Amino acid sequence: MIRRDFLRRILYGGTALAATGRVLEPHIEGAALAHPPFNLPGTDPPSARSLPTRTAIPFRLEDVRILDSDLLRMRDQTLNYLLALDSERLLHNFRVNAKLPSPAEPLYNRESPTNGWRGHYVGHFLSACSQMYASTGDVRIKTKADAMVAELAKCQAQLGDKGYLSAFPESGFDDLEQGRPAAVLWYALHKIMAGLLEVNERMQNPQALQVLEGMASWTDWRTGRLPEEQMQRALQIEFGGMNEVLASLSAATGNSRYLVVAKRFDHHAVMDPAAQGRDTLTTLHANTQIPKFIGAAREFELTGEPYYRDSAQFFWQQVALHRSYVTGGNSINEHFRTPPDALASELTDLTQETCNTYNMLKLTRQLFTWQAGPQYADYYERAFLNHILATPNPADGSPLYYLGLQPGQWKVHFVPHEGYFCCCGTGLENFSKLSEGFYFHNEQSLWVNLFFASEVRWREKSVVIRQETRFPEEPGTRLIIQTKSPNHFTLNLRIPYWAENASVTVNGKRFQPNEKLTSSSYAKVDRTWKNGDHVEVKLPMRLHLETIPDDPTLAAIMYGPLVLAGELGNENLDPKRIYSDDKFLHGGFPAIAVPELAGDDRNALDKWIQPVSAKDRPLTFRTVGRGHVEEVTLSPFYRLFGQRYCVYWRFRTAV
Ligand SMILES: [Zn+2]
Repeated sequence: MIRRDFLRRILYGGTALAATGRVLEPHIEGAALAHPPFNLPGTDPPSARSLPTRTAIPFRLEDVRILDSDLLRMRDQTLNYLLALDSERLLHNFRVNAKLPSPAEPLYNRESPTNGWRGHYVGHFLSACSQMYASTGDVRIKTKADAMVAELAKCQAQLGDKGYLSAFPESGFDDLEQGRPAAVLWYALHKIMAGLLEVNERMQNPQALQVLEGMASWTDWRTGRLPEEQMQRALQIEFGGMNEVLASLSAATGNSRYLVVAKRFDHHAVMDPAAQGRDTLTTLHANTQIPKFIGAAREFELTGEPYYRDSAQFFWQQVALHRSYVTGGNSINEHFRTPPDALASELTDLTQETCNTYNMLKLTRQLFTWQAGPQYADYYERAFLNHILATPNPADGSPLYYLGLQPGQWKVHFVPHEGYFCCCGTGLENFSKLSEGFYFHNEQSLWVNLFFASEVRWREKSVVIRQETRFPEEPGTRLIIQTKSPNHFTLNLRIPYWAENASVTVNGKRFQPNEKLTSSSYAKVDRTWKNGDHVEVKLPMRLHLETIPDDPTLAAIMYGPLVLAGELGNENLDPKRIYSDDKFLHGGFPAIAVPELAGDDRNALDKWIQPVSAKDRPLTFRTVGRGHVEEVTLSPFYRLFGQRYCVYWRFRTAV
């Protein structure tokens, strides 16, 4: 049930968070930090170690400072949310399971005491706290996560000496292994283990590693007893990225035993065909599969076995390029229901589970590091901008589950502090590690992949690069180099797939004056940089159509990297339906007639889609003389909230 007091607040001003959280000022260097953000020693965290398979590694969250005000708002809403969550309630199911006293009121839905997912949100909470601490240095978040780990350690000790820790009785694993109906036990454990790994690495908390190693030992014992066939059968139930977290733990500790255990979670029914270049994904549950391939990518980095590389790359290619919508999101009612490149028949209110895109971005970041391929950066920008940033309610940051693509759909957010679904957990992490895909580097080169106002500290080179831009309102960016002494390196500037006639100038002089910078590539500026050098990148944006692969009369309208959505107003839309405490409360109101567009000239879009001149409506357009019934206002999908929208338009003639 949606709480009445909450609805009153959202309908008549104020939000639940306004009552419980404090809005923080944007982060100021050196102020109230546990550590200054830019002076940590070392390079990669240990769990990121790998064979020399990588061309570029991401900068740590500590080394990237976000300056973009929209992103800062999203991050700080999540920070306040993490601070407002009640740790006693989060711990309740763990304590009950360990037969420890817990007077706390249980949480709801997927964290309720009988739910088959319970415990998973606590893992996301730990991951998000760790990322948020790395991003902001806010000591309150570290204190809260450290306390949570200490309480989980007590539960673990109470549950025996094998290292088991969960919000479920261990007998659930008997059911799972015997093929009886069972909860998603490994899925929940994966989230908790991933959270502990991050707490150890990002917050330097050795107790988290101790608890995690206990869980990994128990996992070794539990899975080592099973014949392979029986283990493979158990993997038919969603198990998150158990192979990934165990492989990363192996890298973190140097203990190869954990890699042996990780491989027991290689799900051959799905990974083998992918390694052979066969797409067998149709009908499968989508988000169950993605983490298996994130794990495969990690296993490749640690073993060098081509099987893992091939399966991860093929899976990415199929999902990102043949099973995703224009937004970069995928899935229909959580599944890959249709064959590759067949998307038109299933534009429903239940498309695009948000967890899937969270996981696809994780996989994409990882694959980018191998060869720094621009196709990965292009997909990352598409999905980050048009799905992830399209989710949090601007009023309170509350996440959503499905991003429906049914024409006339609207965004339905969770009631704050009442949603504990998977997308609420990943919805925390999306905004605690916002800068993860912005910049990458190796010894000699730095890659600029996303264009947001921000600053990156390259510790090994003693260089700071500041990116000044109002992107996407401004079609380009400026980079200013700060270095104490002249410094030689290559700056790889992304030229996106959507940019034609891009140009780069260095200190006012045209870079590569005789060559055209091609779309979906990098401009590689190799020079000795001096303090104050500045680079101007111009990325002209234009309107373009993206037709859905299997219907030439159905297309989305884009402007540069932005998916534009039609603003369809609030007809028959009860404001209460902007919020939900379940993932299935999208429907129940009559559909509306969505205008068709009469335009059929792909090359003259700017003739019939024209900018709205109002200063307070940047990146907003209106059709002129082409709406079949009425004209339509178009604005960036990621900024459109609280009303009905349309992303894919029916054109009266094929485009
Ligand atoms: Zn989800």
